[in-house]
Order: sequence, then structure tokens, then C-alpha cells
Amino acid sequence: MDGVLVVTGASRGIGAATALLGAQRGYRVCVNYVRDARAAEAVADAIRRAGGEAIVVQADVGHEAEVARLFATVDRTLGTVTALVNNAGILETQCRIEDVDEERLLRILRVNVVGTFLPSREAVRRMSTRRGGTGGVIVNVSSAASRLGSPGEYVDYAASKGAIDTFTRGLALEVADEGIRVNAVRPGIIETEIHASGGEPGRPARVAPSLPMKRPGRPEEVAEAILWLLSDASSYTTGTIVDVAGGR
Ligand code: NAP
Repeated sequence: MDGVLVVTGASRGIGAATALLGAQRGYRVCVNYVRDARAAEAVADAIRRAGGEAIVVQADVGHEAEVARLFATVDRTLGTVTALVNNAGILETQCRIEDVDEERLLRILRVNVVGTFLPSREAVRRMSTRRGGTGGVIVNVSSAASRLGSPGEYVDYAASKGAIDTFTRGLALEVADEGIRVNAVRPGIIETEIHASGGEPGRPARVAPSLPMKRPGRPEEVAEAILWLLSDASSYTTGTIVDVAGGR
């Protein structure tokens, strides 16, 4: 695949696995991160060591000017984006609604929702045949939480992912005849550092016995689904959501 892949939040977890697999499949890759420069550079180094091409760009996806700078940097160094994975996402410490405050809600919605809309806007501006582009593909990273609601843990996070499901459907239809496909993956419990930010690093192991396959998923298993959705193998698939949740 000769294309330019932007993966938001690619310094670790599902994003890093997607960037690495994308590079293996031949994409020139932009590794975006917000805080952990060293981890992002390590992902890019691994891509380069394997003979691929990668750049690292720090940008908070929830802020318009930073997203504009991210895509301008990609234009200048890798070329026009052909594939976008909106992966960056956060959750906060497990709690009930009584303990949620405005600041927390705005943080979650800014990264998970605004941080998916803004990169998508930049990508559509470049990809749409209506605007002289040559098309492209967008994959959003939702969560099984959008179906399950995450009661007692983080209903705010779950609701933010519900917005991603709806956005995926709406945007896919909006640009379906402009050469752009838009889909989402909905991971279940995947072994990454995100669970530590929820206050329970051991959550995957704790819930494993209750999962249909009795184990959490690996980031690479999600990346495989994302790369399929990015590829021409899924050329007639748009506006849909692929659950990568081990049956959960
Ligand atoms: P993770 O290990 O916590 O990694 C999150 C990544 O997002 C990091 O690269 C982080 O960068 C980046 N990031 C956070 N805020 C950002 C921002 N404002 N701008 C740009 N980058 C930002 O998370 P993960 O588990 O791989 O999750 C990836 C996606 O999958 C998220 O959307 C998450 O909601 C979703 N998901 C995860 C699971 C799961 O069980 N792990 C399940 C369902 C859905 P820094 O390293 O610089 O902080």
C-alpha cells in the first residue's frame, strides 16, 4: 500500500500497534502523541529499523490549531494523508455519576469527541474528490463501552464513544460518494496502559474470567481489524462498526 497514514495517539497501546502494522503494510506513517515523546520516537525508530518511513508529531487532537499543525506537517514531510486512524482517547478514574464534574466531562469529550472530529475534518478537506482530492479512508476507534454503558466505572467515557459510533455513521454517509470510506472498530478489553488511567492497571486480568474467551485482547488484534478497514480488501465497507471484543 503506497499511502500516508496518520495515527493519533500512536505512542503506545492500540495506536502504536496500528502504526507498526501500517508501516509493515507499506504506509508512510505519522506517529502522533501528546505527552510521551520518548515512546513516540521508539515507535518511529522501530518502523525505520524495519525499513519503513515515519515521522513523529506532537499535537493535542482536542485543539484546533494543533490539529491544523499536525496535518500541515504531514503535508510537508510525508505527502497528503490517504488514511486516518482516530485512535487517541482517554478515560478517567472509575467513579459514579455523583462524583463527575464539569472539568472531567470536558476533558473526556474534548479528546475523545472533538479529537476525532477535528482530524477527520482535516482529512476530508484533503481527501474529498469534491474538493479535488483523490479519496481516502478513515477508521475511528470506538469502544464496546458504547454498547455496554460502563455503569459504575465511566459512563462519561462510554457516552463519548457512543458519539463516535454516531459520527462514524453520519460522516460515512456524508462523504460516501466523495471517495472516502469511514468505519470504526469497537475494541473490548485490550491490554494497554489505559486501564491504569482508570485507576485499575490490573482490570484486564480481573475481568478476564467473565469474558467469553476468558482473556483480554492484544493491541495487535485490534490493529489487524483497523488495517483491514483501511485496505482495499474492505472497498465496499463503509459506515459500519467492527466489534473486536472477543464476543463481549
Ligand atoms: P493508551 O495505551 O492509554 O494510549 C493512548 C494514546 O493516546 C497515547 O499514545 C497517548 O499519547 C494518546 N493521547 C491521549 N490523549 C491525547 C491527545 N489529547 N492528543 C493526542 N494523543 C493523545 O490507550 P489504548 O488503550 O491504546 O486506547 C486507544 C484507543 O482505544 C482509545 O480511543 C480508547 O478509548 C480505545 N479503546 C481502548 C480499549 C482498551 O481496553 N485498551 C478498549 C476499547 C477502546 P501519550 O503517550 O503522549 O500520552
